[in-house]
Amino acid sequence: MTDIKSLTLTELQKEMEDLGEKKYRAKQLYGWMHEKLVDDFDQMTNLPKELIAKLKETCELVRLVPVKVQVSKQDGTAKFLFQLSDGNVIESVLMRYHHGNSVCISSQVGCRMGCRFCASTLGGLTRGLTASEMLDQIYQIQKWSKERVHNVVVMGTGEPLDNYEALLRFLTLLTDEGGLHISQRNITVSTCGIVPKIKELAEEKLQITLALSLHAPTQEKRKSLMPIAGKYDLSEVMEACRYYFNKTGRRITFEYSLVGGVNDTREDAASLIRLLKPLNCHVNLIPVNPIKEREYVESNHEAVINFKKSLEKSGINATIRRELGRDINGACGQLRKSYMDREEER
Ligand code: SAH
Repeated sequence: MTDIKSLTLTELQKEMEDLGEKKYRAKQLYGWMHEKLVDDFDQMTNLPKELIAKLKETCELVRLVPVKVQVSKQDGTAKFLFQLSDGNVIESVLMRYHHGNSVCISSQVGCRMGCRFCASTLGGLTRGLTASEMLDQIYQIQKWSKERVHNVVVMGTGEPLDNYEALLRFLTLLTDEGGLHISQRNITVSTCGIVPKIKELAEEKLQITLALSLHAPTQEKRKSLMPIAGKYDLSEVMEACRYYFNKTGRRITFEYSLVGGVNDTREDAASLIRLLKPLNCHVNLIPVNPIKEREYVESNHEAVINFKKSLEKSGINATIRRELGRDINGACGQLRKSYMDREEER
């Protein structure tokens, strides 16, 4: 079965020709899928019955099924657990900001990066998502909320650069003018730092924001939190970030999850300043969201504020990520994890 929702318009035209159909049918079909967000062939009313029958036989129209939606009473954040056609489940989040709606999507089922504080990686990697499965998280959420999605962040479960081909395809389709046409500038891709892939992505010269999960200012400390640092040294990661900036002109966002007593001291702030000072960047501080499987604790409020102040005093732009949806298992992978734990108990 062809996964037609993952095809570009050009590829879809070829597919139609192979099916003995007129080329213009591709555009109609593409519009149904990516603009009108219709996920049932029978609702594509301008396509002939015979074509619909052929499509049903040869093509899969990917559609994620929401098995659970949790809405935060605090801030309207909604967390979705979607089931894929092979039975796997993934999670996505809708965040409502003054400047528009933002959706955080997963890029893989599970993750193999093993970051110590992250719930998404506890069960390892099952598989990468297809472009259509990444897109449909956004499509289903837009339909559910009946509101337009403005921003997309690839910061849910999974390492997007470990699913590179599908990620690029996803970005092409998401920004396409025949689809949701989301501006590249409104898309952020977050990576734990797979150096060769960062460089490859730089060559694409996209206007997306690259977010680099740093979490520690020294190689040694970073390695204790993130196994990937054993493969790529901090100096190589920083070099790749400079390369990315030089190629694309896009300022890197560094993500720094503050873990109490681990990476939130004055000394940590001082070495982070030394590391980042030469760069044109932005730092996003995230008080770590503790997971029950690990001993890590959140930094106290004062430490977070002091950390931010130190950075700012040195001229480094920093924000503290607003914590949305804490009451609904807001942290990466926690909803999926609690769902799967319950399934196992049965
Ligand atoms: N694999 C990618 C994207 C997914 S994780 C990456 O590593 O960037 C998105 C961000 O959330 C990363 O910065 C990740 O380190 C962070 N994160 C994961 N678990 C967290 C937790 N429990 N508390 C705070 N931040 C967490």
